[in-house]
Amino acid sequence: MIPAFTYKNPQTVPEAVALLAPTWGEAEVLAGGSDLLAAMKDQLVAPKTVVNIKGLKDLSTSNIVGGKLVLGANVTLAELAELAPVNKHFPALAKAAKDLGSIQIRNVATLGGNLCQRNRDWYYRNQLGPEVKENLAYGAIFPADGQSYVHPSTLAPVLIALSATAQVVGPNGAKDVPIEKLFQVSDLKNKREVTLAPNEIITNVTIPITEAKSAEIQVRERQSHDWPLVQAAVALLVDNTGMVQKANIILGHVGPVPRRATDAEKFLVGKKLDESLATEAGKQGAEGAQPHATNEYKVQLVRVAIKRALLSAMGNDYWRGTP
Ligand SMILES: Cc1cc2nc3c(=O)[nH]c(=O)nc-3n(C[C@H](O)[C@H](O)[C@H](O)COP(=O)(O)OP(=O)(O)OC[C@H]3O[C@@H](n4cnc5c(N)ncnc54)[C@H](O)[C@@H]3O)c2cc1C
Repeated sequence: MIPAFTYKNPQTVPEAVALLAPTWGEAEVLAGGSDLLAAMKDQLVAPKTVVNIKGLKDLSTSNIVGGKLVLGANVTLAELAELAPVNKHFPALAKAAKDLGSIQIRNVATLGGNLCQRNRDWYYRNQLGPEVKENLAYGAIFPADGQSYVHPSTLAPVLIALSATAQVVGPNGAKDVPIEKLFQVSDLKNKREVTLAPNEIITNVTIPITEAKSAEIQVRERQSHDWPLVQAAVALLVDNTGMVQKANIILGHVGPVPRRATDAEKFLVGKKLDESLATEAGKQGAEGAQPHATNEYKVQLVRVAIKRALLSAMGNDYWRGTP
């Protein structure tokens, strides 16, 4: 049974922020509810107040402003997948949104909620304690701070690769936070997966429109109703001779925060990307992995996901049977 709570329907952002509390657990933001309601039913959280932010209309819009795409935090994943500017400028983001979850989830889940969703660690969700976690086949191959859950957001690695920023509003006003700085390793108690304070909300996400070529690959056990096993998202700035000027390569679902494949990024700069270079970058991206017996398979998935994402960004989807 869900403990009783007060339900609030603010109509403005300051009103919403004022209803939140400075400590976690007192009040929770409700967007699409696809994660929060499940967490409440499982009594992972038992807020005294639920603050529905779907009445904040400005958070449901998307606009191009000064060479940047601004996406409201309440834009649903189904909308995100279809938005013309997203498909035109950021095909990797459109694809990540299209491949995510299921149509039912995408219809209700929001961009802000996707970034702030709690992790899916089986032991955490079932409140079984950490002692047998190392046996998790779906767990991290890049564990950190003693945590081996994987960050659940499939949009986060793509947004990091695209150098996106979140606008965060709290009692002291608004600030811009690079999406890469939005995540931290949770202790699964009072420290959450996001760096937000308990009384802050994400109002929008801004992505600079550049010439970067982007792509993302999700390796999945099931094509629907599930999270990827491994994901690689890339954004490449390439000059007119085909030389890589800048490479962003971000891995998802391999550690408690999205992981930047720094060595692979450096390796590519100043080189012309071809299949053997992409293969080598894939190997470098998997370096330093600390798998255990049951999730060692993920190391090879990382190598392949990086290679395919890099080639896909350059228009080569050879493994799909296209030229
Ligand atoms: C079967 C299944 C498969 C799934 N597969 C995937 C997948 O492949 N990839 C993936 O990424 N996700 C997947 N999901 C998770 C899904 O994408 C998330 O549940 C969803 O994106 C959460 O969005 P929401 O709007 O429903 O958030 P809510 O459930 O409303 O909120 C989630 C959390 O975010 C907080 N929150 C929401 N909005 C904001 C905001 N604007 N500012 C601050 N905090 C906020 C809430 O307080 C809550 O803690 C799957 C879910 C299911 C059930």
